[in-house]
Amino acid sequence: MDAKINDHIGYDVIVLGAGAAGLMCAAEAGKRGKRVLVVDHAEKAAKKILISGGGRCNFTNLYTSADDFLSQNAHFCKSALARFTQYDTLAMFEDYGIAWHEREHGQLFCDGSAKQVVAMLLETCSKHGVNIQLQCHIDRIDRVVKHEAFEVISEKGVFSCASLVVATGGLSIPKMGATGFGHQLARQFGLNMIATEAALVPFRLTGKLHESLKSLAGISLPVIASCAGKEFREAMLFTHRGISGPAILQVSSYWQAGTTAHINLLPDLDIRSYLLEQRQVRGKQQLRTVLAELLPKRLVAHWCEAYMPDKALQQLSEMDLNDIAQQLHAWPLKPAGTEGYRTAEVTLGGVDTACLSSKTMQARDVPGLYFVGEVVDVTGHLGGFNFQWAWASGYCAGQFA
Ligand SMILES: Cc1cc2nc3c(=O)[nH]c(=O)nc-3n(C[C@H](O)[C@H](O)[C@H](O)COP(=O)(O)OP(=O)(O)OC[C@H]3O[C@@H](n4cnc5c(N)ncnc54)[C@H](O)[C@@H]3O)c2cc1C
Repeated sequence: MDAKINDHIGYDVIVLGAGAAGLMCAAEAGKRGKRVLVVDHAEKAAKKILISGGGRCNFTNLYTSADDFLSQNAHFCKSALARFTQYDTLAMFEDYGIAWHEREHGQLFCDGSAKQVVAMLLETCSKHGVNIQLQCHIDRIDRVVKHEAFEVISEKGVFSCASLVVATGGLSIPKMGATGFGHQLARQFGLNMIATEAALVPFRLTGKLHESLKSLAGISLPVIASCAGKEFREAMLFTHRGISGPAILQVSSYWQAGTTAHINLLPDLDIRSYLLEQRQVRGKQQLRTVLAELLPKRLVAHWCEAYMPDKALQQLSEMDLNDIAQQLHAWPLKPAGTEGYRTAEVTLGGVDTACLSSKTMQARDVPGLYFVGEVVDVTGHLGGFNFQWAWASGYCAGQFA
């Protein structure tokens, strides 16, 4: 697969990036009999698939809909998601014999290892004659207008093609090979870029808040986290640097610097009514003792210290009860920032969808140039949506490139 290739080889399609979207697109173009080359600078294909979902790859979501994606144009993703649905993904996995299971919120994971997913993509590519060149540094891309072609000038030679598919992903986790090359190419060819931001990323806390919460590191609990009008019912985790867990990763995609996120620490209980009831039954009991039956003890100790001097239930005034309810159902947390691209699962923003056809993923003003996957300004929620976008957009471009 990694054989030395000669200078100036012509292909029908060259795909830049051997990740989920790139390999999907290459396999589909290969099935149509196209001569396809995939070029990637990494030493291994699809590294992000390998580490995804804790090694089990959350490869799609049964409830995928356009509402699970962020983009300047909320409608753009609909066409691709309709043409290659979550059920098509499932059929593809089942055809290859990958066993799977469903977790909460319709998330589908491999029973075995994410390695099976990469093996499926590589075998399909190989079956359809796709040439994959890894550890191949790309110097630059030229457009040869006269021949309606692109040239990929790389350390392994110069390759030309009629269709160039950019599938180089987002900026998240540079250690795994992420670069801004796709964004740079978009600019080179005159496409607009939507500003990028780390997303699905833990929050950092600083100062007094960090000092007081860092002793809670390791505590995880079910919450509803909300930010900018969006809310997510998932687990939250206190870390040494701040807060994380699925609920926090989800709201991070909506968070703007300087704003406050709110956490409902008791999403299944009306704490005001509960305390009123308990006041009747066991008025002498300390608030802290009652709360420790509902929440982790260390969190309760911190919370009482910060917000409510410990009192017996019978001493709680109406105002106290309102304050308690406010602080437990909408605990305001103002992050100092996020952990950034170093640990972010995805990148918000990217190539402006206004410059692309939603049917083919081709640049409207540059015939033969396609963008697929995370490099495009389409970002999924946590839960298998980002891979579904990679499969769907890769599939669509693969039918036309
Ligand atoms: C830790 C982690 C866990 C995740 N878990 C899940 C999950 O369970 N479910 C889910 O749906 N999503 C998950 N995601 C998100 C998902 O991995 C991405 O959205 C998806 O991989 C994007 O696919 P892509 O093909 O567009 O880009 P990528 O998978 O990032 O592939 C891009 C490829 O381009 C190559 N490349 C980059 N720059 C260059 C260059 N200059 N020259 C040559 N090659 C280049 C890279 O080496 C890479 O192989 C996770 C992400 C992370 C970081």
